[in-house]
Amino acid sequence: MTALQKLIARRIAAAGPISLAGYMTDCLMHPVHGYYQKERVFGKDGDFITAPEVSQMFGEMLGLWVADRWTTMGSPSQFHLVELGPGRGTLMADMLRAASKVPGFEAAVQIHFIESSQQLRSLQREKVPFASWHDDLSSLPKGPAIFVANEFFDALPIHQFEKRDGLWFERCVGAESDRLAFTLAQPGAQFGLTPEHLRTAPNGSILEVCPAALTYCTCIAEHIALHSGAALIIDYGYAKSAPGDTLQALKNHRYCDPFEEPGAADLTAHVAFDRLADVASGFTVTASPIAEQGQFLMALGLGMRAQQLAAETDEAGQACILSELKRLTAPDEMGSLFKVLALQHKSMSPIPGFS
Ligand code: SAH
Repeated sequence: MTALQKLIARRIAAAGPISLAGYMTDCLMHPVHGYYQKERVFGKDGDFITAPEVSQMFGEMLGLWVADRWTTMGSPSQFHLVELGPGRGTLMADMLRAASKVPGFEAAVQIHFIESSQQLRSLQREKVPFASWHDDLSSLPKGPAIFVANEFFDALPIHQFEKRDGLWFERCVGAESDRLAFTLAQPGAQFGLTPEHLRTAPNGSILEVCPAALTYCTCIAEHIALHSGAALIIDYGYAKSAPGDTLQALKNHRYCDPFEEPGAADLTAHVAFDRLADVASGFTVTASPIAEQGQFLMALGLGMRAQQLAAETDEAGQACILSELKRLTAPDEMGSLFKVLALQHKSMSPIPGFS
């Protein structure tokens, strides 16, 4: 039994089952035992590899996208580049290297990181020492801003609801003789966030909602509408919401039981991209179509960048670049499962990468 498992079991014994969102928050964010406080989360010797850790080309493409949007915004002399969930800081370092080739960009950019983990903040500080750190978007200064989030939204806590005998219940976390397990309870207020057309799903169906994702997306859209700017959200998930249980626990590159070792495994869920686009539509903001990562990166010129890098290296290096390209874009790797949604102020010209 992990220390966190004991704490959660004790809390459930004292006050009853907790929501899945509460459980995920404890597992990922607990200040001592939470998953993101672990030493090695990403990379080959961690639990999973993200696109920026696969290849520098990912960040370079995103950096050029950011520089292009900054130019379209009229190249403001100061603007905020905000990354949500920056992990090891690799993506920001790669984006800045590419975007700084655009005259005036480096002098204008002010870096902000939204990061809850102190452990990761110190890694990020090594790569991007001149950034400012925030717990959430509430402390972000006013002014034009470009937001980037890669594999951030999938880490936000979800609620799940299950239909039994024609009625919806909330899947909460309870304890059975010291083992944590799902238990059904009356649905909480968050059930109101489930899309109405999905509530007619058959018995046994599971619906998911992520209030934190909707809140973050609303705050981003509000900021863009008020101060101008753009956002790029990349994650794995649905282009169109559907019933299904997408909660997954990952440890050492393997799926495991989400209740097995709370705090030791990464917990994530699919992002409902259509819901994010919906909440943004209430503002003076244009949402892009929802693209697949492979198509998006190729439309931005990833193929050409790979060729350029390959021309500068030997045969072994070329094989490596080819395998990175495939990993990022092939439909059976990250190319199709990962989706991209962009938002920008309504006044701006068409969003690159979605043709
Ligand atoms: N974007 C990085 C890392 C993705 S992992 C990459 O692509 O490699 C998720 C990141 O989001 C981690 O940095 C984690 O600490 C952070 N994070 C997760 N939930 C968060 C929350 N609610 N608030 C702030 N940061 C969070």
